[in-house]
Amino acid sequence: MLQKRTRKLKKRLARMLVLSMMAGIAGLGMGCRRGFGKEAQGKVKVVASIYPVYDFVQKVGGDQVAVLMLVPSGTEPHTWEPSSRDMLVLEEADMFVYNGAGMEAWAEDITQSVQNKDLMIVEASCEVELLKIDHDEDHEEDHDEEGHHHHGEFDPHVWLSPENAKIEMRTIMEALKKADPEHAEIYEKNFQAASQECDKLDAEYRAALSPYEGKHIVVAHEAYGYLCHAYGLEQIGIEGVSADQEPDAARMREIIDMAKEYGIKCIFFEELVDPKVAKTIADEAGCQTAALSPLDGLTQEDIDSGREYFSVMRDNLNSILKAFA
Ligand SMILES: [Zn+2]
Repeated sequence: MLQKRTRKLKKRLARMLVLSMMAGIAGLGMGCRRGFGKEAQGKVKVVASIYPVYDFVQKVGGDQVAVLMLVPSGTEPHTWEPSSRDMLVLEEADMFVYNGAGMEAWAEDITQSVQNKDLMIVEASCEVELLKIDHDEDHEEDHDEEGHHHHGEFDPHVWLSPENAKIEMRTIMEALKKADPEHAEIYEKNFQAASQECDKLDAEYRAALSPYEGKHIVVAHEAYGYLCHAYGLEQIGIEGVSADQEPDAARMREIIDMAKEYGIKCIFFEELVDPKVAKTIADEAGCQTAALSPLDGLTQEDIDSGREYFSVMRDNLNSILKAFA
């Protein structure tokens, strides 16, 4: 246990070092804080925690909102925590949207620490039916006295099913209508367009994956519970739900054996997690590798090149089909 903690700490320290170096190189300087610029004037100022909700707020809010993402792009969000400086941006925001379901363990403390009494706090996943995590290993259950759910009880990756993405966007729409009733019609219209796109995406997944019901995919971390649940697949995770622990030799062997047994043709890695382990497993099992994005985060390069929820989900579908082809 101690060894595990130390390894986790080392990993986190290394990550922090890389991040501060990147920030330095980019000339951001660790002394500056982010905030809403002049272009945010007259708009609803929204701080979104992680990429999927950031993207959904943009889709529903359109030109009426100014959105900042709290977790820096290119950062794997499961182990990220905001500094008190990161939180300052909430003091000038109208709304804070987070995914919830245990994704941002730190988000629930925000209500206590933030001074901004007008801040509207929105948990995007609050209407989604959550899936429990299979606790087969050493995950710790974590309830508080009022029975609130915390990190570790549910799978937080709800957005990977288009049906759930729609539910999150509806929750965001309702919040925006409340915060800015003057533009309610626009939010409704934007939501309807995004909602239809979700239906289209769902139909594409259904059609493409229906011949493969019951098949297994090997993924970098167990982010695909809702996707698998929606389309009748099973996931085998190289890392668990929180992507915070590399597998030991015995688990590696187990995954390689399963990949062979199930005739899996392709092992998936993620851009924000070191692909080394996935590549080793693929070599041993005689498979190819391909990227599959949990959309936990996108790199700034991806965002700048116009990638977003729907395009990444379509790329994901093409990747998934490689596991069976
Ligand atoms: Zn994840």
